[in-house]
Amino acid sequence: MLNIKKLHKSYPIGDSSLHVLKGIDLTVEDGEMVAIMGSSGSGKSTLLNIIGMLDEADEGEYILDGVPIKNLTEKKAAIYRNKFLGFIFQSFNLINYKNALDNVALPLYYQGMKRQERQELALFHLGKVGLEPWAHHLPNELSGGQKQRVAIARALAANPKLLLADEPTGALDTKTSHEIMDFIQHLNDEGKTILIVTHEEDIAQMCKRIVRLKDGLIMEDEKVEQVRASQYVG
Ligand code: ADP
Ligand code: MG
Repeated sequence: MLNIKKLHKSYPIGDSSLHVLKGIDLTVEDGEMVAIMGSSGSGKSTLLNIIGMLDEADEGEYILDGVPIKNLTEKKAAIYRNKFLGFIFQSFNLINYKNALDNVALPLYYQGMKRQERQELALFHLGKVGLEPWAHHLPNELSGGQKQRVAIARALAANPKLLLADEPTGALDTKTSHEIMDFIQHLNDEGKTILIVTHEEDIAQMCKRIVRLKDGLIMEDEKVEQVRASQYVG
């Protein structure tokens, strides 16, 4: 699915710079569910944003589904992002003035899908996360867990090959976090490849592999026995 070699990233600060990623090597196969861990500021989001083509590395190689990701025009990057990737964020990143249905339908609009078709597909995906009755509600009428489920439906609407989640449970209580993880695990059971940034150990243990970042490098990369979230869901 993806192959990263000797990836470096620095951010300029004043006259100097902050070297955040110092030579990351990472391969992820189709169907994996990987947690990216590390303390705050260790570069987890930076790495995920590069994988998600929201940011670019300074040095190194990144191949996504056979496509070298380098020096892409903004237009090309947008096309690949739409085709390959779905995103979930801690703060949901829903559009406040659009209802749940329209939020889910938005990526389909960018794909050029006709209105009728995208409304139907969006409703289908809202159904999959159990929110069909909430289709015409605005985000501020939904709970945190419901908002994240809308965001998951939106991420899945365009059928991405890879799902990227940056602290998807970071703004949720424990019970809701487990419900969301249960859902994400089912997506992976169905074959979706998933990368989750988290700093919570129990969430990481619900993945199948844990990659730990420290001082800009991967200090540990291990397969784990997956803890099923369903055992905590009532
Ligand atoms: P994490 O997600 O692990 O908490 P980040 O990848 O967000 O870490 O950030 C890694 C380091 O890079 C932090 O010290 C952060 O302050 C810095 N950083 C992140 N984004 C930028 C930016 N756009 N400009 C300057 N510094 C940044
Ligand atoms: Mg982060």
